[in-house]
Formats: sequence, C-alpha cells, structure tokens
Amino acid sequence: MKHWVENIADSLTKRDVKKHVIASGTSISGSIHIGNSCDVFIASAVTKALKNTGTPAEVIWIADDYDPLRKVPYPLPESYEKYLGVSYAHIPCPEGCCTNFVEHFEKPFLDTLEDFEISLKIYSGEKMYIEGIYNDYVRISLEKALEIREIFNQYRENPLSDDWLPYNPICEECGRINTTFAYGYDGDMVHYRCECGHEGSMDIKSGRGKLTWRVEWAARWKILKITCEPFGKDHAASGGSYDVSSIISNEIFDYLSPYPVPYEWITLKGDAMSKSKGVFFTPGQWLEIGAPETLNYFIFRSKPLKHKDFNPQMPFLDFIDQYDRIERIYYGAEEPASQKEEEKVRKIYEISQIELKDRIPFQASYRFMTVAYQIAGGDINRVFKILKKNSQLPDYMENLVYEDLSSDELNQLEMRMNHVKNWLDKYAPQFVKFHVMKTIPELPLGEDQTHFLLKLADILEKKDHTAEELHDEMYNLLRELDMKPQKAFQAIYKTIIGKKHGPRAASFVLSLDKDFVIKRFRKEM
Ligand SMILES: [Zn+2]
Ligand SMILES: [Zn+2]
Repeated sequence: MKHWVENIADSLTKRDVKKHVIASGTSISGSIHIGNSCDVFIASAVTKALKNTGTPAEVIWIADDYDPLRKVPYPLPESYEKYLGVSYAHIPCPEGCCTNFVEHFEKPFLDTLEDFEISLKIYSGEKMYIEGIYNDYVRISLEKALEIREIFNQYRENPLSDDWLPYNPICEECGRINTTFAYGYDGDMVHYRCECGHEGSMDIKSGRGKLTWRVEWAARWKILKITCEPFGKDHAASGGSYDVSSIISNEIFDYLSPYPVPYEWITLKGDAMSKSKGVFFTPGQWLEIGAPETLNYFIFRSKPLKHKDFNPQMPFLDFIDQYDRIERIYYGAEEPASQKEEEKVRKIYEISQIELKDRIPFQASYRFMTVAYQIAGGDINRVFKILKKNSQLPDYMENLVYEDLSSDELNQLEMRMNHVKNWLDKYAPQFVKFHVMKTIPELPLGEDQTHFLLKLADILEKKDHTAEELHDEMYNLLRELDMKPQKAFQAIYKTIIGKKHGPRAASFVLSLDKDFVIKRFRKEM
C-alpha cells in the first residue's frame, strides 16, 4: 500500500526530467496559517518521497509579495486601508520591527519551518521582477497579447477589451498596482492609465510592474523548471487559474504544466480561515501545543482534497490520543483493528515523521497530563509520580523512578508537559481547569457527604491503591451508604478544588499527596 504522497512521486518519476522542482507559494497578505502553509508541507513531503526513490528533487517557495493588498489583515488598524491596491512589498512593517510588511508576516512562518526540518529555496516575486528574470516573458506576453486574450476570453463571460495587455504597471503617481490598465507598448515601454487619473509610460526593465496572475504563474513554471505544485482548490476549479495557466504554459511558453496537487482548505472550528477577520491558526501556534509530527499527521492522514477541520480546544485531546495510538500501532505496542488499518496507519505515521526512531518514543497521555500538571503545579518530578501511581506509564517503566529516565525520555516528557501547559493556558475550557485549594474552600457539604469523605479517608489510610482498586472500593462504599456517585464525588471536588466538577474521581484522589487528601477529608487542613 502506498501513501498518496508516494503515488504523486511515482507519477513524477515518469516525467523525463533530470531534477524535479516542487513549488510552493504563499501570498503574503497577513499571518501565514496552517491552511495556506499546506503548500509547503505537501511540496516538502513529495520532495522527500522522490529523494527516497533516488530521484533528484528540491522544494522551492515563492513569496507572492508583489501582489496588491486586497483586505487589511487582522490585527492591523483601519489606517492600513490607504495601502489597498499597493504591493505588499511596498507597505511598511506594521510594528516597525522589520524592513517591510512582507518580512513581518514571512519571518515567523519561515522560522517555524526549522522545527519541521523543511528547507526551502526561497524566491521573492518582487525580486524576480526587479532582477529582470521575467523580462523575456513579459516581452513574449506583450507580443502574444492577442492569443492570451483569446485564451482568457474562452473562460470569461465579459470578454476583455481589444487593447487589454496581460501586464499591470505600478502607477508612478499613486503607487497602486491593481488600478492600472496597460493599453499599448513600444519596445520595452508600456503605456498605461490609472484609476487615479494618472496616465504614463514605464519601462518593463525597471521591474515596476507585473504580469497578470495566470500568465505570471505559467511563466514562472518555465523559468524555475517547476514539475509539480500543490495549491488551494480555488485555483483548481474547472476553467480556473490552473486550467488557464496550463494552456498559456503549453501554447505560449511551450512548457508542460506541472503536476497539480489541489488541496482543500482547513477550517477552524467550522469557520473558513480568514486573515482579515483574524480567524486563523498558524504553524507557530501549533508548535506551542503539539509536536511538529502531529501537524504533519493532521495534514497527511487523509487525502489532500478531503475536508479538514481543526479545533484546538477539547477535540485536540482526541486528536493527540489518535496520534499516540497510531504511534503504538506502528511500533507494535498496540493491536490494530485490522491488517488493513495497520498498513494504512504505518504509512501515515512514516510520512509524518521528521526522523523515524528505532523504538517507540516515551508517551505520557496528553489528556491525563492535563490533570497531572494542574495537581503537580508544573513540577515535572511530581507529574511523573502521578503518572506512575495511575498506571499511565508503559510497562517497562513500572519500576523506574524519575531519576532513571534517559535523556530522550526526559525530553519527551518535558516537551509534552510544555504543550499541556500551553494548551491549559490558551485553549482549555473552564471546566477542565482547576487548582488545588491551599485551605478548605468554604462550600457547604451535606451530612452524608461529610460522612462519605471520612469513610473514604479511612479507606485511603489502610493501603496504597491502584486507580482501579480505589474506584471499586469507592463504589462499594457508595452502595453501603446508599449514596449517588454524583453527590459523593461532588464532595471530593468541593473540598479540594472548590468546584462542583472535576477530573475522574479515583485517579484524581490518587494523584494528590496522600497525607494531604486524608487530612483534607477529615477537615484537618
Ligand atoms: Zn515587523
Ligand atoms: Zn494611480
């Protein structure tokens, strides 16, 4: 069984090229989120798969930094509306910390790629024009404007006017690029008028203008010898950008269009991600709560056109549980549901790894650690003890103490604890948050509840229990007292965390310091 990434690599090896260039590109219209960075993740995985078959390949990234600003991105002030229509590259950094707007949004994204061990050859749209890399293609496009216009018109309801040229100069008067109309040219001089009223001429060699998007896309396929490119599904519609650019690539530039990998957008809690509305989640935010491999898993566990929704709140815990499960299946520590499932998850796990380890990395349940962390107040040694007491450690660790952990195991534990801490701070709903009260909370208890706590204190004092044993003993006690579990457990939560609800009772009680719990139940502290 092959993963879809490997199938793409297989199709590519049938092309007669010496080296494959897998392109990704991002419009720098604001923070780069996990939705529009799929380009980079997919391109990088395909490149890796090609290299695994011995085929030379590289991944490139083109910053679409010469495009005009169409909407002011969150959280920029309204005053940025004055830059609408201006190339991103010509807009200042919103916080004065970088050379311009592009660097401000590009840098945090490129920095996080190090954690994913993705290295890209980076191109800037602006620089390519300024350095004259597009010049010959602009000349060809102007000469063949009529043919290009006809190709465009096949897909347009309103045909383009007879003097339309596939080129947009930057207006020398108002600085905008999406308000100019080029209507004629003499050699390298392009004549244009702008909506601001200015009429002028510019030299294409100055680089102060750009090809119309679909023509530009086709031109850069040939310039950079691109053989495969993932892109958001909006470009993939019938008669959309990819179709039109392919015709231009084949007919105008005589270049075979790259193998397309359209992908579906990622929604955030059901909403489309939007840079202008501030609805987005970045790879950097992901790394605060999860390992880089888990984001890879999120992207590669299903086909690229399958809908993906991300929710960093409670569903994130289910997601991490699933990741841990496939990791256990991969290393034979858990039985898969079927052989078919095993083959499938093994492939997905492999594709998601940055470096495949010889043995299963130390896993501590993320979900359980959200409780352990809060009880232990962030003390890692105590977290480990709590995990141990609650049979949350792999079998081989049963007789180990914290000091016995190898540096790899310790790193794993620390990393997960850090993720859990950030998750609790940023995404955990109120009902999972608690802290152990230093003094007895002043919450009234019924007589039966007080009695239950005293009996429970006696049980705890008798011996050391496992979570299962204590659970059974508690239910025996409830039957004896003819009490409902809900009422009894409420007494535990009220006394310890001052709330009516809390984590699973037996393991919660066992996770706390035994002397403290007994004394608290007896109202001694
Ligand atoms: Zn900045
Ligand atoms: Zn103008």
